Amino acid sequence: MLSRTLRAAPLRSRLVSHAGASRAISASPIARGVQEITRPAIETPLSLWNFTEEENMLRETVKRFAEEVVGPRAHDMDEKEMMDPEVIQGLFDNGLMGIETPADLSGSECSFTSAIIAVEELARVDPSVAVLCDVHNTLVNTVLRLYGSKEIQEKWLPDLATSKVGSFCLTEPNAGSDAFALQTTAKLDKSGDFYVLNGSKCWISNSGEAETFLVFANVDPSKGYKGITCFALSKDMGVEIAKKEKKVSRARLDRVDASSGSDRLPRASCHSTTSRSPRRTSSERSARATRWVRRRHMSDGQIAIEILNEGRIGIAAQMIGLAQGAFDHAVGYAYQRKQFGKLVGDFQKMGHDFAEAAIKIEAARLLTYNAARLKEEGRPFTQQAAMAKYYASVIAQEVSGAAIEWTGGVGFTRDLPLEKFWRDSKIGGSPRWRNGAGLRSGADKSGAIYEGTNNIQLETIAKLIRKEYVQ
Ligand SMILES: Cc1cc2nc3c(=O)[nH]c(=O)nc-3n(C[C@H](O)[C@H](O)[C@H](O)COP(=O)(O)OP(=O)(O)OC[C@H]3O[C@@H](n4cnc5c(N)ncnc54)[C@H](O)[C@@H]3O)c2cc1C
Repeated sequence: MLSRTLRAAPLRSRLVSHAGASRAISASPIARGVQEITRPAIETPLSLWNFTEEENMLRETVKRFAEEVVGPRAHDMDEKEMMDPEVIQGLFDNGLMGIETPADLSGSECSFTSAIIAVEELARVDPSVAVLCDVHNTLVNTVLRLYGSKEIQEKWLPDLATSKVGSFCLTEPNAGSDAFALQTTAKLDKSGDFYVLNGSKCWISNSGEAETFLVFANVDPSKGYKGITCFALSKDMGVEIAKKEKKVSRARLDRVDASSGSDRLPRASCHSTTSRSPRRTSSERSARATRWVRRRHMSDGQIAIEILNEGRIGIAAQMIGLAQGAFDHAVGYAYQRKQFGKLVGDFQKMGHDFAEAAIKIEAARLLTYNAARLKEEGRPFTQQAAMAKYYASVIAQEVSGAAIEWTGGVGFTRDLPLEKFWRDSKIGGSPRWRNGAGLRSGADKSGAIYEGTNNIQLETIAKLIRKEYVQ
């Protein structure tokens, strides 16, 4: 049942009223600025479990929304392989589709960590809903907010915050890990007023629900990746949703082809490389100078990669939420189920398994929160984001796999959500299989998939280590 209270009060207004403040929104801590959210000048370092009041309230809000609205629908959505419109509407109504979007563009204007918290809490109940929210916020909104011109932002961001789902279309059949190999082209027509896009994308999350598509295409293939540009398209601009893939996970990660055909696009829909007015939330302003200089040397293809660095922290959050959700279900069950006259959770081996899993979830969480705070503080975070995504995805699969075993036969059925958690974990990462000696960390050579496979995360980390040691 969709809670009326939740639907009635969008996130931002609820946060202000929860804070007990009758003051105007513009005077709220969220709106006041970077000092409230990031902590570049702290004298006494705080633990990574320290959150702002707003972030704590957001966690509670999302937790409640996930339990009351998403939870009761999760099984049905999984079986039907579709997203319940009430859930999507609830995400909008609660301000969770424009978490970092400025308030004057109808967003919630919260910190990046808030987005991470929201994804984590949603994943605890349903990782598929979490990834919809994650892609929409950390990829689609972020590209427009950081790199779109003022005109582009005003045109797209308010709808994305209030009513239209977005998708991020980079991958193509022949351009997966090697994203720069994309073959979709964008050519100016004779009038010079329109771009004509031709190409096909695949594995696009949210494409079934989306009305806004960020499509990466090459405006000048002779320049290689430097010719890659990003276009914002609405569905009626000729985006054709093709085949729906049958996946390991039956979740609503609708990976279908988004073919842009050869429709004429107004040139203005292009997200221009010469935009000069990036909109940042308060938490990002500290990073502005550095980013701006770097921006001048970046092609839009590089922007896609840069954005994926941030997006990886979102996937890490999805994976820790997923691991925690599986853990909660299985451990709860183990402390109810009796065998040999006692609770199965009370067998020492079971308790040790729980302890090991809890350590790993905590470690992954700290890597993730740390990467998020580094990003907010404007410090380099590529390596930490790759580490967080890699490790969180590895332990998510370990923990959700172990959770099935902790619950015995019932865990293997669809009566419990554990097999779904495990299926969803496969998309984020791929650990070495358990060999009977307890939970093991490490990754095998195949597997981990979106926002850079685990091999690609290792490649990124290795390159950065090399850079440090080789002059
Ligand atoms: C559920 C799901 C949702 C997705 N959502 C989106 C989305 O919203 N938008 C989008 O644009 N894309 C999306 N993708 C695509 C995703 O990002 C790609 O699948 C991913 O980048 C891997 O590309 P690929 O599938 O072509 O695998 P490939 O690149 O063909 O990789 C195959 C194997 O080769 C390995 N490999 C490749 N290159 C190297 C290397 N240099 N070193 C070592 N190993 C290597 C990989 O690790 C992998 O094990 C999604 C994919 C899935 C499955």
